[in-house]
Amino acid sequence: MELQELLKKLCSTCDPTERLVSLALNVSKASPPHPEGRGFHSSRLLSWLGSEEHPLTLREILRGVSGKMELHIETELRPETEGLFVVAGPGLWESFELAVPIKDFLYVGPTPCIAPLLEALTRMPRAYVIRFDQQEGILDEVSGGVRREIERIPSVPVERDAQHQMSGHSARNQAGSGRPATRMGGGGRDRYEYCVEETVEAMLHQAADRVQTLQQKAPSESIYAFGDRKHFPYFRDRLPATLRSQAIHLGPLPHRHEELLGKRIAEEQDSRVRNRVEADILEFQSRQAEQCYVASGPEVILPLLDTGKVARVFLDPGDPLPGTKCISCGSRGGACGHPLAATSMTQEVVSHALLHPPLPLTFVAPGAAWLKESGGMTALLSEKGIHGRR
Ligand SMILES: [Zn+2]
Repeated sequence: MELQELLKKLCSTCDPTERLVSLALNVSKASPPHPEGRGFHSSRLLSWLGSEEHPLTLREILRGVSGKMELHIETELRPETEGLFVVAGPGLWESFELAVPIKDFLYVGPTPCIAPLLEALTRMPRAYVIRFDQQEGILDEVSGGVRREIERIPSVPVERDAQHQMSGHSARNQAGSGRPATRMGGGGRDRYEYCVEETVEAMLHQAADRVQTLQQKAPSESIYAFGDRKHFPYFRDRLPATLRSQAIHLGPLPHRHEELLGKRIAEEQDSRVRNRVEADILEFQSRQAEQCYVASGPEVILPLLDTGKVARVFLDPGDPLPGTKCISCGSRGGACGHPLAATSMTQEVVSHALLHPPLPLTFVAPGAAWLKESGGMTALLSEKGIHGRR
C-alpha cells in the first residue's frame, strides 16, 4: 500500500476498546552511542513500557505489543534506521522505519496518534541529485530518506561539425561491411577530436531534461548537484525557470567518501525544513501581535476545520492533547447529551489534514512555550485577501 493510503487508513481506524498503541522510539545510533547497539534500544523500550509508573490497565495493553516490538528491533530493523514508529492494536500492526531520529512518544487510545510520524516524514522530503564529472552524470532520487540511483548518463563525444559526422558515419559503415581496417585512417580519427566542454554541456543538458521529466511525475522541492562548480550552470540554466531556483550546488563530487554525500544532503534537507518552520512561526506571531485572523486552542480550532477557514495549523507533534468527542454524532461540545469518548485533539487535526486536504500543518519543536500558552495548538485563518502561502 502506498504510504499516503496507509496513513489515511490509520486515520480512519478506531478501536472502541481503546487499545490502540502509537509508539515512537528513537533508535538513532548516535544518541546515545552505546556498545550494545540495538540491544540498548530494545532493553530501554522494555523498561519504559513495563514501568510501574503506568496504570495497571495500560501496562497490560503495552505487554501485548512489547514482545513484538522487541523482536522487530532485534531482527528486522534496517541498519540505516534512526527512528521507529509503530501503530499496534487488536489485529493491527504497522511499523515505519524512519531515516531520521524521532523523539520517544507513547499514546494509547481509541485512535492512533500519528503526528510524530507525520512530523518525521516532513524531515525526509523527496529530492533529486545529480552527481557529475567529465565522464558521466548520475541521477539519484532521495525518497523516504534513502538515496537510490535512477540513471547514468555518459558523456558522449560531440562532433565538431556535420562534415565530420558524415565522414565518421561512412567510415563506420565501411568498416562494418568488411573493408580493411586501414581505410579508417585520418578522417576517421578526426571524429574523436572533440571538445570536453561541449561534451559535458551536452551531458548536463540531457540530465536536466531528465530531471524535468522526473519532476512532472513525482515533484520534489530540491534538486542537488555535486560536481565541478564551473559546469553546474550548464545543468541549472537548462532547467525551466520554475525549477531553476530549486537547483543547488552542494559541492564537488566526493570520490572517496560516498558517505559525505548523504551527510551533506541530510544537512541541507534539515536546514530547509527548519527555515520553513521558522518562517511559518514568524508569520503566525506577527499576525497574532495584530490579532489578525488567528485562532488559539483546540476548542476554537477544531470546530472551524469543516468551514474551510483554517489556512494552517501549528501543532506540537509530541503532545496528543487529550480531549473528548461524542461517539454518536462526533460533536465535541458535549451539548448533544450522548456518551463521550476519549480522543487526541492533535490526531483530530492530523486526520482532517490527511483525509480532507489541503490543510497545511506546521510541526513546532516540542515544548515551545508560546504554543503551550495558546492551548497547545494555534491556527492561521484565511479571510478575504489573506490566504495561506502554500
Ligand atoms: Zn452526540
